[in-house]
Amino acid sequence: MPSTSFELQPSPLWKHFEQILKIPHGSGSEKALGEHVLAYAKSLNLSASKDKVGNIIVRKPATPGREKAAGVVLQGHLDMVNEKNSNVAHDFAKDPITTEIKDGWMHARGTTLGADNGIGVAASLAVMEDASLVHGPLEFLFTVDEETGLTGARSIQPGALQGKYLLNLDSEEEGTYTIGCSGGGDSEIAFPLKRKASRLENAYRLKISGLRGGHSGLDITQGRANALKLLARLLTLAAARVPFELLKIEGGNKRNAIPREAWADFLLDPAKIPAFQAVLEKTGADIRFEYGSVEKAFQGRLEEIPRKKTDAPLTPASQESLVAFLNACPHGVLRMHPEIAGLAETSTNLALIRCAKAKAEVICSSRSPIGPALEAARSMIKSLAGLAGAKIRQPEAYPGWAPNLQSPLLQTMKDVYKKTFSKDAAVVAVHAGLECGIIGQKFPGMDMISLGPTITHPHSPEEGVDIASVADFWKLLTAALRDLA
Ligand SMILES: [Zn+2]
Repeated sequence: MPSTSFELQPSPLWKHFEQILKIPHGSGSEKALGEHVLAYAKSLNLSASKDKVGNIIVRKPATPGREKAAGVVLQGHLDMVNEKNSNVAHDFAKDPITTEIKDGWMHARGTTLGADNGIGVAASLAVMEDASLVHGPLEFLFTVDEETGLTGARSIQPGALQGKYLLNLDSEEEGTYTIGCSGGGDSEIAFPLKRKASRLENAYRLKISGLRGGHSGLDITQGRANALKLLARLLTLAAARVPFELLKIEGGNKRNAIPREAWADFLLDPAKIPAFQAVLEKTGADIRFEYGSVEKAFQGRLEEIPRKKTDAPLTPASQESLVAFLNACPHGVLRMHPEIAGLAETSTNLALIRCAKAKAEVICSSRSPIGPALEAARSMIKSLAGLAGAKIRQPEAYPGWAPNLQSPLLQTMKDVYKKTFSKDAAVVAVHAGLECGIIGQKFPGMDMISLGPTITHPHSPEEGVDIASVADFWKLLTAALRDLA
């Protein structure tokens, strides 16, 4: 960090952030940063402990006279995402992050900065240190491995925290409070496939490509197309006109991504190609009409592929049930949140399919902040799998954080924001998993909110933090601690 950092305000927070930048702390390698936090807390004579996965908890007594106030937990994660540009020589295992400041923003030089969640951690350390603040009993929770598996949050022992309120410091927009997140659960469907002999000599591939895809939670309200749904729709329409014999269907990449590409391989009499093409052209035009404004690069293409002697097509019954399952399988938003505009409450993503000789595997991932709604979505998929003669496995879901617009903490935080900045804070929830979902389940009744400075492009070398927003974040945080006491 250039020496100008010492002039940044508030200086204690930036001083701690500067130290954090010197200690490598990618996900899974947070040990040194955890030790740093532990040693710092002990140097302030605060009680501090580390659990078996490396989470750190520190306790700071209330300002004299505020001992009876409700306890507040300040929480952030120790780990960062290590990403760099390919032309940058940087060893995340030992090199410090170097920074530059331009136009009011701090960036790293060609790597992620780790403002996510280094600023939150630095703010906690600055609160620990500052004897001039007014506050009730405080606990500080520093978790490990948020970015790759929420492992730290999952491992916290019930009873480890006493606070009534939790301020998560991992939001990325100053002036916006986050008050909810989705839980999620997958469905893994296994189809038995039966195959038969065939006299057909020619093999073809129908491929859907050019779609935008995106995150299965954050982008689910964008109205984008799912390549697997378009493919199943085309195959269903084609099957009514042309007797093709399906070899396999493949598509999608990750459980948490909307499929961008999908393809089906099949055998077909070349004399029937014009009829197949006609279905493809008509349906392709329909799809462009429906999705034209959002999926400008959509393509549906038929091409001949080598016919392997070993390829055996599915029996008509196997083919029908597989295509019908994909065609009927729900995808997209199932319910919008009734009180928070624009927020998907419950959704499901038909994520991917892989075909082997005797088995096809399909994965759906569903989300909701509300446990029973999530299970209802998964139960639809289970019923459908039953109808299609498939087996299904539904691993235990991870919990969400249901937005509570009547939360007393939210009311106080809104008041504090208005008093401090003479304007209203925005209130949002996200349709993706956050640590608060996991933590809330372990401490029933804990009232939680998430806040932070403005950070753009986290998890990429473009990551930047708006320096002025850090000062506002600090002002808000310290005013909130005072008012909550
Ligand atoms: Zn984060």
